[in-house]
Amino acid sequence: MKIDLHVHTNFSDGQPTYMEVIDKAKELGMDCIAITDHFDNYDTSPNIRRISDGELLEFFKKIKSYAEFKEQKVLCGIETCTDFNGNLRISDEVYNASEILITSVHYVEYSGELVKGEYFNDGYWEAFKEKIINMASGKGDVQGHPEGYLPINPLIKPGTTTYEERKAISSKIASRYFQDDFLKELADSLIKSGKAYELHGATSTPRESIIKFMASKNVTFSIGSDAHILDWIGKNQRAEEMCNKYNCKLVKV
Ligand SMILES: [Zn+2]
Ligand SMILES: [Zn+2]
Repeated sequence: MKIDLHVHTNFSDGQPTYMEVIDKAKELGMDCIAITDHFDNYDTSPNIRRISDGELLEFFKKIKSYAEFKEQKVLCGIETCTDFNGNLRISDEVYNASEILITSVHYVEYSGELVKGEYFNDGYWEAFKEKIINMASGKGDVQGHPEGYLPINPLIKPGTTTYEERKAISSKIASRYFQDDFLKELADSLIKSGKAYELHGATSTPRESIIKFMASKNVTFSIGSDAHILDWIGKNQRAEEMCNKYNCKLVKV
C-alpha cells in the first residue's frame, strides 16, 4: 500500500498545482494521497491566514473532479494548528468537508522571555509539550510532524541558520526534552482520541526508538512526506521500513 497523506500545493505554501500533484501520484502508482494544504486563520504567515472557507471548499471540489478524471484516489484535507488547549478553530463546514485533518504545532502560545540564539529554553519547550498533549487529545485525524519542524523560529536569529541546521537543532531539542514521561502521556492521549502519529518524510522523524515505543503502545500511525515540491511526493521509504519493522498499525484510508 503506497500512501502519502501529507502533501502541499500552491494553494498554500507549496510549489506545484493540485493537478501536477495528482499527475505525479498517478505516475508513481500511489494507492492514495491526501492534499493537505495549510488552513489556519491564526497562522503567522499572512498568505495562509487569508484563505477563506469558501476558497477552500471550492478548491476541494476542483481536486475531487480532477482526481476522478485521472482515476487517482485523493483525499481532501487540511493541516492546521490549534489553540493552546488543542481546540480546532475552523467552521463545522470545513471540518465536515475535510476527509483528513492534520494538527501540527506551528507556533506555541508562550508569554515567557525568549532570547534569540538560545534554543534550549526550558519554559518554552514545557509549553510546547503541554500544547502537543492537548492537541493529541483533541479533534483531528493525524498529529503532524511530532518531532520535526519544531517551532524553533521564535528562538533563532533570522537569517543565521540553514534548513539543515534547523533540522539538527530540532533533533537535539527532541532528544533533550521529549523523554519517557512525556512520550507515555503522548501515547495515552493518542490512544484515547484515536488520532494517528505521523511518520514524517521531509524530516525523517520521529526517532526510531520512539516509533518502536508508540507501536508497542498500539498507537495508530500515518505516513506523510509533507511534500512542498513535486519530487518529494511519495518519499516515505524510511516510514515504510519502520512500519514493516515494528508492525505499525496504519490509519485507514
Ligand atoms: Zn506543518
Ligand atoms: Zn505540512
